[in-house]
Amino acid sequence: KEGQGREKDKADRATSDQVLDKATRMILYQMINRGLVSEIHGAISTGKEANVYGAVAYPDVDGPPVQRAVKVYKTAILSFKDRERYIAGEHRFKAGAEKSHGRKMVKLWAEKEHRNLRRIYSAGIPCPEPIELKSHVLLMSFLGDKKGYAYPRLRDANISGDDTEQVWRTLYIQLLGLMRRMYQVTRLVHADLSEYNILYNDRKLYIIDVSQSVEPDHPRSLEFLRMDIKNTGDFFRRQEVDTLSDRTIFDFITDPKGPVEEPGLSKTIEDLYASRPAFASDEAAAAELEVDNEVFRNQYIPQTLEQVYDIEKDAQKIEEGEGDKLVYRNLLADQVVLKKEDRDSEDESGEGAALDSDDESRFEK
Ligand code: ADP
Ligand code: MG
Repeated sequence: KEGQGREKDKADRATSDQVLDKATRMILYQMINRGLVSEIHGAISTGKEANVYGAVAYPDVDGPPVQRAVKVYKTAILSFKDRERYIAGEHRFKAGAEKSHGRKMVKLWAEKEHRNLRRIYSAGIPCPEPIELKSHVLLMSFLGDKKGYAYPRLRDANISGDDTEQVWRTLYIQLLGLMRRMYQVTRLVHADLSEYNILYNDRKLYIIDVSQSVEPDHPRSLEFLRMDIKNTGDFFRRQEVDTLSDRTIFDFITDPKGPVEEPGLSKTIEDLYASRPAFASDEAAAAELEVDNEVFRNQYIPQTLEQVYDIEKDAQKIEEGEGDKLVYRNLLADQVVLKKEDRDSEDESGEGAALDSDDESRFEK
């Protein structure tokens, strides 16, 4: 009996997560009337901020059906919760205010995603093609096969065979190229790039989920870029790819000089590999990489030239305990540099000592 109750709870939650509110249904009907889609299917993904649904369209009257994806930003979906409170007579004013604020924010995010996607798509970077935006509903092309299965996230990509190692390395280099193109050509930093927001098919990567992407002159863009580099690097290291240092990648992405198209992009990356200092062993190189990344991740990155007022004077201020008066004082404050979990997993793999500075073994023959 108890089990049944729990099952029912779960089912209720599942439906309430997927129920479309009236405003959303109206927008979808409108899209159907205009022939942009003909039917909306089940959810491909239900996330914290948005649900993504599969859809079918017939762009040519007599032609074959085409798959599409509809991203519906939430809050609007959950507005019935506010309504519940409204009916109960509690927090009437507050609920209303929150709701309208939430709606506006959600619309803004959807707009941002649409705009960013347009820029990335028109630069020829593999991503969904934006088709239509109406309020908090974004219609885009579907990244998946003809049967309607979405391409897996890179995290779930099933790469097997004799050349697995080579494929992972190629994908890594492909991604670095995409990041540079995104920065140099579309002037965007993804800002939430990881194996969760990259789709994979047939040795090709697709960039998705770009509502939070920012331009290089955003006050925190370089900090976001540094996180994107770390997160993607961590993932490829777990696939045992020999990665470049975060600093090397950062410079590669942000340097205006150099190619932004293939084959020049890959060649530049291979050159970066070739110009790395030699180490006695792979372990020594890995340890050095770890130290270098740790230093880079803690380093202050000036965002604009104006921010570097006067390095010497700034250093003096810090000495005098007035560091918190500097413009960039908060840049590093909320960053998690090292977590307990990192330590635990290091211990497991027996690499816990890799950061000990008096451990000279890594420099030995
Ligand atoms: P969220 O903000 O919820 O992370 P995403 O844009 O990352 O939203 O989309 C969530 C999931 O939906 C993705 O991981 C992917 O599996 C699927 N998805 C999103 N857009 C598409 C698309 N255009 N084609 C196929 N699947 C998609
Ligand atoms: Mg996502």
